[in-house]
Amino acid sequence: MRREDDIDRTAARIAELRQKIEYHNYRYYVLDAPEISDAEYDRMLRELLELERAHPELASPDSPTQRVGGEPLARFQKVTHLAPMLSLANAFSEQEVWAFHKRVCNLLDQQDVAYVTELKIDGVAIALTYGHGRFTRGATRGNGLVGEDVTPNLKTVRQIPLQLRGADHIPRMEVRGEVYLPVSAFQALNEERADQGLPLFANPRNAAAGAIRQLDPKVTASRPLAFFAYAIGYIEDESLQTQKQTLERLMQWGLPVNTYFRWHASMEEAIAFCREWQQKRDSLNFEIDGVVIKVDNLESQRILGVVSRDPRWAIAYKFPGQIAATRLKEIGVNVGRTGALIPFAILEPVRVGGVTIKLATLHNQEDIRRKDIRIGDWVVVKRAGDVIPQVVGPVLERRTGQEKIFRYPRKCPSCGHEVVHQEGEVMAYCVNRECSAQEFERLKHFVNQRAMDIRGLGPSTLQKMLDLDLIGDAADLYNLKAAQLARLPNFKEKSIRNLLAALEESKQRPFENVLFALGIRHVGEGIATVLMENFHNIDSLMRASEEGIAAIPGIGPEIARSVSEYFRDEKNKQFIEKLRKAGLKIEMKERPALLGPLSGKTFIITGKLDSMPRSTAEKWIEERGGIVLDSVSRKLGYLVVGADPGSKLGKARKLGIKEITEKQLLKMAGG
Ligand code: NAD
Repeated sequence: MRREDDIDRTAARIAELRQKIEYHNYRYYVLDAPEISDAEYDRMLRELLELERAHPELASPDSPTQRVGGEPLARFQKVTHLAPMLSLANAFSEQEVWAFHKRVCNLLDQQDVAYVTELKIDGVAIALTYGHGRFTRGATRGNGLVGEDVTPNLKTVRQIPLQLRGADHIPRMEVRGEVYLPVSAFQALNEERADQGLPLFANPRNAAAGAIRQLDPKVTASRPLAFFAYAIGYIEDESLQTQKQTLERLMQWGLPVNTYFRWHASMEEAIAFCREWQQKRDSLNFEIDGVVIKVDNLESQRILGVVSRDPRWAIAYKFPGQIAATRLKEIGVNVGRTGALIPFAILEPVRVGGVTIKLATLHNQEDIRRKDIRIGDWVVVKRAGDVIPQVVGPVLERRTGQEKIFRYPRKCPSCGHEVVHQEGEVMAYCVNRECSAQEFERLKHFVNQRAMDIRGLGPSTLQKMLDLDLIGDAADLYNLKAAQLARLPNFKEKSIRNLLAALEESKQRPFENVLFALGIRHVGEGIATVLMENFHNIDSLMRASEEGIAAIPGIGPEIARSVSEYFRDEKNKQFIEKLRKAGLKIEMKERPALLGPLSGKTFIITGKLDSMPRSTAEKWIEERGGIVLDSVSRKLGYLVVGADPGSKLGKARKLGIKEITEKQLLKMAGG
């Protein structure tokens, strides 16, 4: 009887874990918005694995322990991988790594085994298909067998070569690798989102996954994604013997490979490598969550094979999570450049991963409410790479009842002006344009590297300039004289000369940088570029109606309202006049478009052509001045229809796009 009770209880626990893990898989893989830390998730998965192992009668092929990732989203075309994309088994201690080694030696019947170790990049797994050296298709991992076709988005990742060097003889191959967002880019992105009142990304991985799984490649292009290749999933007509050789070959073909990989004659050496990187992980500009240890010999890999979702020839040594618990003393509020009030946590200092943390980000009131974080709570804080530490959530068991709920202040903590918190907006704003905290943030934004990139003008100098009344706004920077700069502390002849030169040089920044530098709410770099491409100069943008702006693809009503409000404001108009006088670029540089018989025309090719492969035809069109679009929209001029056309044909017909044959295309280009 008691044994049956036990089994019932175990079965119930297994069902509960499966359900929870499914839910978190969905949040993580499909929505790119996890609610719990990876360490918590890993603990649940491990418990489930152990229970299933102890009770094989309760195992099920549907269990999340048997499957990789999440289902592909319906809005993308599905891609069947040439070989399954697997996950990796984890080791959370050196002991577990040794157990892995023993298993490998036993299965291979060898005394020792050579390994290659690679940093485990925390990004998004991607499969790139190359045909005769040309990039033809890129896909996400999806459920391991079927992924999402994200080719146009991957084409915006500059590090992914569209043409490999010396790989023409390979009819088909699938390169595997990780798309990731550098830590510095992630921080900049989140700062910008905080300023714009948008929800922040939990970590660089989620930001990268969100960027790759976009319907609009422009959004992907606005995030500086990077890529590392680490494996070949499938290859024709090429023989490779080892993982080390594979990595070297990938590099020769021009694919970016993370060069910190190393070959080891023994597991001892491999473990030393893991220890070394556990210490040094923060020195990198990308996040790693461990080290992957792979059997070097590919034939041995084949013999070892795969169990359920993990290869038996590799293991991920996971670094311990960098989390700790401490008391949240107070919640402070900063004022951003758009007036957004940004809460932050003031913590009882605590050491996490060798660093003392006193402050952490809290995003916004909504996020604080969702996580139920209260002032006075014990909270879990997490540090990842160099990223600003985050408050993961409260430790509910330690609550005393004395904790207080956070609310936005009614008055701006900087200027005392009234705060406005509109229904439906996550952020509250100080709406006083004269607020000195906002002016300071606007200045910082204006001079930053991604905007006007004025070197030698850090926050403390800007603050001093404001204090000394040398400037009132960013446009005043361009009227500064040497004598005025001499009043700044530590500004001698050379630094004055350098700053004046940097200001002069910044006048050459293109129009999209100027538009971004204005600091209009909701206008990040991507949106600035879209506005520039549609309005060409500041005057037509200023004249545009809110509806006119909202009609542009990729611009939502909220952005349109914000842009239109900005340009209606008299003070902003004066500011722009000052920038115009200073000589900043406020119109788009004409692109040296290739002139040719197809100039001004847009095309998409669907199906197979007779005279040349599609990729060659696309290049051919561009060389004759035409533009090849990625997706069918009303903007498309001509759909070139070859044999076996794809779904684009149906879409184009619905929109009434003109269809032409290959012959007509050749004729249009003059033969
Ligand atoms: P994984 O990330 O642990 O390992 C497999 C992946 O590692 C590969 O697909 C590849 O993308 C990547 N990788 C990076 N560098 C590599 C290299 N040099 N060689 C080979 N692969 C490399 O496994 P997974 O199945 O992708 O996901 C599990 C992870 O996701 C766990 O860390 C888990 O904590 C996390 N997760 C978290 C939640 C959550 O709610 N927080 C939910 C689901 C999954």
